[in-house]
Amino acid sequence: MDNINLINRLSSEHNLSDSEFLKLITTSEYDAELFLAADKTRRENYKAAVYIRGLIEFTNYCKNDCFYCGIRCGNKKAVRYRLTRDDILMCCAEGYSLGFRTFVLQGGEDPYYTDDIMCEIVSSIRKNYPDCAITLSVGEKTRETYEKYFEAGANRYLLRHETALDEHYKKLHPNNMSLENRKKCLFELKKIGFQVGSGFMVGSPYQKPDNILADLRFLQELSPDMIGIGPYISHEDTPFKDKKSGSLELTIRLIAILRLMFPYALIPSTTALGTIHPEGRELGLKAGANVVMPNLSPVKVRKLYTLYDNKICTGEEAAQGNVKEH
Ligand code: SF4
Repeated sequence: MDNINLINRLSSEHNLSDSEFLKLITTSEYDAELFLAADKTRRENYKAAVYIRGLIEFTNYCKNDCFYCGIRCGNKKAVRYRLTRDDILMCCAEGYSLGFRTFVLQGGEDPYYTDDIMCEIVSSIRKNYPDCAITLSVGEKTRETYEKYFEAGANRYLLRHETALDEHYKKLHPNNMSLENRKKCLFELKKIGFQVGSGFMVGSPYQKPDNILADLRFLQELSPDMIGIGPYISHEDTPFKDKKSGSLELTIRLIAILRLMFPYALIPSTTALGTIHPEGRELGLKAGANVVMPNLSPVKVRKLYTLYDNKICTGEEAAQGNVKEH
């Protein structure tokens, strides 16, 4: 089948066989047609809209030790911080005045934020900003905890599965973490009524094309509202410090494939993409992404939330960003 037919079929049927997906993933041969088709699909569904989400990174403490992450508990060099409820409300106030109507509270799995503390934060935001969406991204919790968050007023939840095959998951995470639980959390969040976002790292250590195929198949099973992917970027204070980072090309190719598989999904063009290439986020938008998440965290803590090295937008300019709508 020639390039055009393959892309046309993905555009209309939103699916391909395993071998066809592997072909698309592993070669740049289809990129030009793929990007054009993804951009067309995005425009058909969303016109020129790019959705802006205000990101508040409120704690860089984490009880987990994922091998790829700069704020893993095993990194004793990380300078840790937590934001109080009032700090977070100030970020929201600033964001609201700038026009943000979605706040994304992201943090490590930090036991300091008990259910009571977290729900107090969420319900305060809900009370002050009834017209805003509240997204949480705070990792794996029990169903009861997720229900409490939902009742307090949170309506969206981001939890990347990171990799969908157990064998690969075990190479990226310590033994006390399990892919099974990660997936269980995602399905529970959906059942509770959250709009759910998931996604994976591109070019993570030991990742093979088959892993990416499994990621696409898992996303089909989950059918999330949001899909966040970004290149793996190594961090100097992790066990993976010498591993190669993921590539711009493959990340953008996968954004385009995801846009054609999930025409209505919200797909961010991530900070990680902007970190590996000066125009990474713009290129992501041109390949089908439709969300950007400028940083609303207080300037003094932005440099401390370092999941990977050389993260961009840690200065004063972050919330204003430099993204052009197109
Ligand atoms: S990836 Fe998430 S869960 Fe893992 S150590 Fe980093 S912040 Fe914690």
